[in-house]
Amino acid sequence: MARKVLVLGEVRDGFLRNVSFEAIGAAILAADGGEVVGVIVGESIQSFGDELIQYGADRVVTVEDAKLGQYTSDGYAQAILAVIDAEKPEGIIFGHTALGKDLAPRIAGKLNSGLISDVTSIEEAGGNLVFTRPIYSGKAFEKKIVTDGVIFATIRPNNIEPLRKDESRTGAVSSLRVEIKDLRAIIKDVIRKATDGVDLSEAKVVIAGGRGVKSEEGFKPLKELAQVLGGAVGASRGACDANYCEYSLQIGQTGKVVTPDLYIACGISGAIQHLAGMSNSKVIVAINKDPEANIFKIADYGIVGDLFEVVPLLIEECKKL
Ligand code: FAD
Repeated sequence: MARKVLVLGEVRDGFLRNVSFEAIGAAILAADGGEVVGVIVGESIQSFGDELIQYGADRVVTVEDAKLGQYTSDGYAQAILAVIDAEKPEGIIFGHTALGKDLAPRIAGKLNSGLISDVTSIEEAGGNLVFTRPIYSGKAFEKKIVTDGVIFATIRPNNIEPLRKDESRTGAVSSLRVEIKDLRAIIKDVIRKATDGVDLSEAKVVIAGGRGVKSEEGFKPLKELAQVLGGAVGASRGACDANYCEYSLQIGQTGKVVTPDLYIACGISGAIQHLAGMSNSKVIVAINKDPEANIFKIADYGIVGDLFEVVPLLIEECKKL
């Protein structure tokens, strides 16, 4: 059944996040031949419309306002609800990012709609659109269909293939005027700690360190390997608790969930709470000096050895690629 599906294009630090393009891939599946409409909210965002179209959106609606320059859930919700009111979509797809996780339930609540969050795949089966999502910290997957109302889903980054960018694709980019009012919080400025390299939740390669890394200094070879492979550094809670790195790097049940193409776990035992954040990675490599470590049970490739010997060898070999 052809549907009109709205997709949120998420702009961060002057760029559209990759998950926006994956969301368009998901929306094309959900639209089943219907129209895919990108939505971009913010300040000075007009130029991003064409990029969403090049990744497969049929057209784009923007809502621009100085009050939307910084994300606030009530400001963004007002803007997106106005677009939903104007467009009357049958489907809505957001990225399952910090913003999506905050905004989607609020909008679903206002629409009195259900929400399928953290979707890892979408397929057509028996005339239904079937959404798959992990449950019980990734130990099982459930499949859901929507029987009534708007299809509303957030998709986990790095799971649904985006379309290849096609610079010859064109489409209309229109703007909708929305009066943003009664904001409960006005964010004047955001001061972010500078991070070098790739965003952990969207990284295709993650090099993660655990308590076995032993110190802040011990993370240096992991950072170098991440740099050589164009990836990001992550950590177990053990490493964060020991002050070897910041909590923003924590992967797991109470940290970030990542699904890279390659996850290299260095000196991580593989506690269930850590696996909850990375077990769906496409290829898992574990380096641990304990051959009985739990991480080897889910690893595709295991290296029993001292990470301080193995990681420099990997750096050397990867530099030759
Ligand atoms: P350890 O379990 O101490 O493992 C260190 C490993 O390093 C060992 O296997 C050892 O053999 C190996 N090693 C040591 N030296 C070397 C070396 N030189 N070379 C190679 N290997 C070496 N944890 C998370 O990661 N993320 C979470 O989100 C999370 N949430 C939690 C939520 C709750 C409610 C609770 C109770 C716990 C949570 N935890 C989480 C903690 C989790 O249970 C583990 O304690 C933690 O993951 C252990 O971290 P680790 O593997 O780095 O350390």
